[in-house]
Amino acid sequence: MIDQKSVYNFNAGPSALPREVLEKAQAELVDFKESGMSIMEMSHRSATYEQVHNQAIERLRSLFSIPENYEVLFLQGGASLQFAMVPMNFLPDGKKASYIMSGAWSDKALKEAKTIGEVYEAASTKNTNYNRVPSSDEITFEETDAYVHITSNNTIFGTQFHEFPSTGNVPLIADMSSDILSRPLDVSQFGMIYAGAQKNLGPSGVTVAIIRKDLLDKANSEIPAILKYQTHSSNNSLYNTPPSFGIYMLGEVLGWMQQQGGIEKIAKRNEEKANLIYDAIDNSNGFYTGHAEKGSRSFMNITFRVADEELEKQFLEEAKEAGFVGLNGHRSVGGCRASTYNAVPYEACLALQKFMLDFQEKHK
Ligand SMILES: *Cc1c(COP(=O)(O)O)cnc(C)c1O
Repeated sequence: MIDQKSVYNFNAGPSALPREVLEKAQAELVDFKESGMSIMEMSHRSATYEQVHNQAIERLRSLFSIPENYEVLFLQGGASLQFAMVPMNFLPDGKKASYIMSGAWSDKALKEAKTIGEVYEAASTKNTNYNRVPSSDEITFEETDAYVHITSNNTIFGTQFHEFPSTGNVPLIADMSSDILSRPLDVSQFGMIYAGAQKNLGPSGVTVAIIRKDLLDKANSEIPAILKYQTHSSNNSLYNTPPSFGIYMLGEVLGWMQQQGGIEKIAKRNEEKANLIYDAIDNSNGFYTGHAEKGSRSFMNITFRVADEELEKQFLEEAKEAGFVGLNGHRSVGGCRASTYNAVPYEACLALQKFMLDFQEKHK
């Protein structure tokens, strides 16, 4: 192993990857499975690559218990391209799509969809600076809507849906970029799930899309081939050159998740990790304040402030010196944010809790 600066990585995205996966990738980098070349250098039509590709799909299906009537796609362009592809494929003329507004990313999704078709806000918590997610009874939609769009975890504001509205026959489409595979979910309550890989699943450059097959058949066919889900689905996500190294890494991260005991185990640990930090906030007598309302708290992104603004600057500076990376809040919210995705070790969260307690003790 190479000597390395040791840090606690709380980056919001791209973010921490499992150490074991990085080391395995390093060992396999130059000569992949005795092929005499790296995975990046070989044809995406080769049997060796195809095995990697299909294994990643299989692992995703098995870990997330994806039903047979759903297609798993690997796309590019990040979750941001999905903000456009979703309405291009699923929002026909004469129909409306309903967007649940719970933060900056749902805002971007809505804006992009507006350029394609007719959309409206199903509910919004903007008036309280997105410190909670709308409850199911606040959410409005119509039976004739093309779909309802939801952001399952609000990366910037640190809130998360802990239950999903039931939308009947209207497909529920979820951007799960920052909490996919962080907890078990019933995939069949969604028409589609999508996520950029770089928070919980692997490196940037791969986007996962999970789509119910009957929706694919009904999708708009009047758009360019590259933007049709159907194109990618009928070619097993090999219509054009896929991000092969990213898909290899994604497969390895999923393999690591299987070794950890699967999603239930990981979800339990994620809660324990986040609660270490929430406890430090809740027991601080107001020295630290959380941004999110308790019932909406995210187990992935913990947003908080230090009550005194000068002290907050000092907190962030001292944290940096102590080896904590990525604790600055998003520029639109300020304050502090700790992102505790799947690959962030329990020990890192414990160290942050200790740092918070020590800092408070010194400065109260
Ligand atoms: C990070 C993030 C995005 C943007 O993802 P890109 O892959 O950069 O396009 C979208 N939605 C959510 C919820 C995110 O956390």
